[in-house]
Amino acid sequence: MSAIVLGKGDALLIVDLQRDFLPGGSLGVPQGDLVIAPINELIRLYHERGLPVYASRDWHPADHVSFAAQGGPWPPHCVAGSEGARFGSDLQLPPDAIVVSKAETAAQDAYSAFNGTGLARRLREQGVSRLAVCGLATDYCVLNTVLDGIGEGFEVLLAPDATRAVNVSPGDGDRAMTRMLMRGAVPVRLSGGHLIADAALGAQL
Ligand SMILES: [Zn+2]
Repeated sequence: MSAIVLGKGDALLIVDLQRDFLPGGSLGVPQGDLVIAPINELIRLYHERGLPVYASRDWHPADHVSFAAQGGPWPPHCVAGSEGARFGSDLQLPPDAIVVSKAETAAQDAYSAFNGTGLARRLREQGVSRLAVCGLATDYCVLNTVLDGIGEGFEVLLAPDATRAVNVSPGDGDRAMTRMLMRGAVPVRLSGGHLIADAALGAQL
């Protein structure tokens, strides 16, 4: 267990913390609301150090390819401009948070916040080398964002307390977590206002 010293080169990325993915939403993630408190703590931790906070969002047209009416796997969700596409009302995003919209055209889906968004370039331009990832859902957008982030050469910190899984098949979330850690994501948790590398979780693999 060791404390992580945050500084220049660090950034926080909150994945798809949108109303449709919260309990009661059209594609609500079980217990998805439980991630908001730890994410707000992460936001404070980064923002008070002047470090950038990014927030990705699904931002779909009404006839999006991922929706059941078009033969996709999901009910309609996060239609651009709709109530369900808004960020969770309790999420305390700083006013200068950088919003990253994805899957904005009908024919293209994007689980990863890096897919078609220019996020990697933007992070590099800001001098970011280490990215902490949290949000929804562990087994889809968080998984793909973390794997792409590592593939783009970023060091990735992952906060398991601040993510939840859809678990269409039981165990999907656990398998996703294993994949991310095996690829080199570093599990972290908040403790006493500090970010701690959670070696115990990594050692379970
Ligand atoms: Zn979507």
